[in-house]
Amino acid sequence: MKQSRFFIPTLRETPKDAQIVSHRILLKGGYIKQVAAGIYDYLPLAYKIIKKIENIVREEINKTESVEVLMPALQPKDLWVESLRWEQYGKELMRLEDRNERPFCLGPTHEEVVTDLVRDYVNSYKKLPIGLYQIQNKFRDEFRPRFGLMRGREFLMFDLYTFHKDEDDLDVWYKRVREAYKRILNRLELDYRIIGADSGNIGGKASEEFMVLCDIGEDTIVYSDSSSFALNQEICDLKEGDPSPDGKGIIKHAKGIEVGHIFKLGTRYSELMKANFIDQDQKTKPIIMGCYGIGISRLLMAILEQHSNDEKPVWPKEVTPFDIHIIPLGDNLDQGLEIYEKLSKNYDCLIDDRDERAGVKFQDADLVGVRYRIVVGRKADEGIYEFQDLKQGIKKELKLSEIEKELKKWKDLLIQIFM
Ligand code: ATP
Ligand code: MG
Repeated sequence: MKQSRFFIPTLRETPKDAQIVSHRILLKGGYIKQVAAGIYDYLPLAYKIIKKIENIVREEINKTESVEVLMPALQPKDLWVESLRWEQYGKELMRLEDRNERPFCLGPTHEEVVTDLVRDYVNSYKKLPIGLYQIQNKFRDEFRPRFGLMRGREFLMFDLYTFHKDEDDLDVWYKRVREAYKRILNRLELDYRIIGADSGNIGGKASEEFMVLCDIGEDTIVYSDSSSFALNQEICDLKEGDPSPDGKGIIKHAKGIEVGHIFKLGTRYSELMKANFIDQDQKTKPIIMGCYGIGISRLLMAILEQHSNDEKPVWPKEVTPFDIHIIPLGDNLDQGLEIYEKLSKNYDCLIDDRDERAGVKFQDADLVGVRYRIVVGRKADEGIYEFQDLKQGIKKELKLSEIEKELKKWKDLLIQIFM
């Protein structure tokens, strides 16, 4: 990709209203643009990364035998009346009317629509279990939209709903999804904890949250320093230094960003919405449900919170917007383009082909955050270029063939880990 065509509207000044590093980078680096409070454009750089995150989620969730669907964002009031949530959901629900004054809402989540879909299809235990997921924009009129994509009013969510004949079957699928979530967050190179949580608005029985550890997190994680005991502070009152209730170790506190949530819903929706099936014993029973969410757009910021240095991103390998950033300086553009053509056969390259000073190019490159950089500079005539590895802070003068060897090592490593 040529940078001159890629539409990266960087800002020279750091936006004053952005309080956290990930928000500053996304605005300054031309990744997102605010349209209204809590509503954003995703520009090419951000959207490319978002699609990579989505695909990691798809790959891992497909392994649970769930299948992808796309349900409407625009949902009729009737379904929400059936589930009692037209009243219960409160002001966060974005409500509107069509030309005939029929009421609708913009989906903040999809339990109603998916339960309606499945109740029409499933009549017998033979058709269970089913897992349906989607990746879609959700709408919530948050009381306090803030921190950019962290708490938006329109945001991208992955949501999965599973349907079962009994609790045991739900348990099996729940564990499978839990494992898939772990693989997703590991591939995104995130440091996280899984904690017991309050099920809030959705209702239901057991639930766990996936928390990315980070000082600016809105949630407080209460955990034991020597066991896997961990809860959201919302549901317990344990102070730092208290003995852990499981008898192992003492309590510590940490801040976290909730990026994922998994629930055992039970029959909260199926009973109210009459989503029943006939079991093997010929009895009519409500379908047992699970539901699972991941904040895709929130993840973009969570990754940045853990993968930036001095207000500069260094994207993890699986979500890097490009493999290599080629930066020709002075009158070396033609040489740069030659390298670009050559490496583009095996790598996704970005070349800064703009007629800009070196200072401007480097400043912008720092905001793109591609780990490997090739600077085509003073020694270009001798066939020597500066190869930079931002993650390890290495700068070396190398020939192109030597650079290719370095890159191949990295690519092989990627293949080894994830194939
Ligand atoms: P929170 O407590 O942060 O409001 P929630 O419990 O309302 O989250 P869920 O209903 O479980 O969230 O939604 C699933 C996931 O969607 C969350 O784990 C989070 O990552 C993401 N998410 C929720 N609300 C927002 C929002 N306003 N903006 C961006 N992402 C969000
Ligand atoms: Mg919420």
